[in-house]
Amino acid sequence: MAATGTNEWAKGKFNIQRGCEHGCRYCYALEESLRFGRVKDYEDWKCPVINFKKVSQNFRKRPYRIMFPTTHDITPKNINECELVLRSMLKSGNEVLIVSKPHMRCIQRLCDYLIDYQNQITFRFTIGSVLDVFLKFWEPGAPCFAERFEALEHAYNCGFETSVSCEPYLDASITELVRQVTPFVTDAIWIGKMNKVERRVDTTGWTDADREFITTVKCAQSDSAVARLAAALKDNPKVKWKESIKKVLGIPLATEAGKDE
Ligand code: SF4
Repeated sequence: MAATGTNEWAKGKFNIQRGCEHGCRYCYALEESLRFGRVKDYEDWKCPVINFKKVSQNFRKRPYRIMFPTTHDITPKNINECELVLRSMLKSGNEVLIVSKPHMRCIQRLCDYLIDYQNQITFRFTIGSVLDVFLKFWEPGAPCFAERFEALEHAYNCGFETSVSCEPYLDASITELVRQVTPFVTDAIWIGKMNKVERRVDTTGWTDADREFITTVKCAQSDSAVARLAAALKDNPKVKWKESIKKVLGIPLATEAGKDE
């Protein structure tokens, strides 16, 4: 079976809370939580509830990389708990992929406190645009571009493995984004589309101006725009395409299955 979404990155996944105050409008975890009745509505989703049993869980060494988190983010509100969980995973020798729309003070803290485990950690920071107007609309509770970029530079300067996820990319500024982040990425820059827009994005009550943001995404993700993007970035060895782009470019898909925990 072809690997999609987070399965393209890690076999193991771990989360410690339900909900996420970043409140991204395209969030797959939000859509799934609504569908299965785990949260009442969008406002409920933005008031996260930590599962303390998971925070105090002991980890054994797993034979695969663990991605943390996948259905929420690391924020100033849960940084204590996230640090505890990460320390516990790392102490047992696990390899961890830390994925975040990064808050500078959280990343500073993780870089300081987890420095002894540096060889087991890769940071992957999600940045879908260099333009705050798009970031603010789609990811209203997440940090602005400058803060995310600063966090990337910081982790890189501290000697950690660093990576960027431009999934979803939000507009045509993607090539400029790749140009800016490339010097601070040791691993890869992943590029992917906003998936299942019709199903995941609730446009109830949107104005015409709001709908323009969807039009921008659709234009930037059209087959012809993807072909232009691939041509523009073909000489950058750090760029990797997510499954949504591979399909357009006719590249075979990876076949790793993921494991939820
Ligand atoms: S940061 Fe991730 S988990 Fe949180 S709302 Fe955004 S997409 Fe969903």
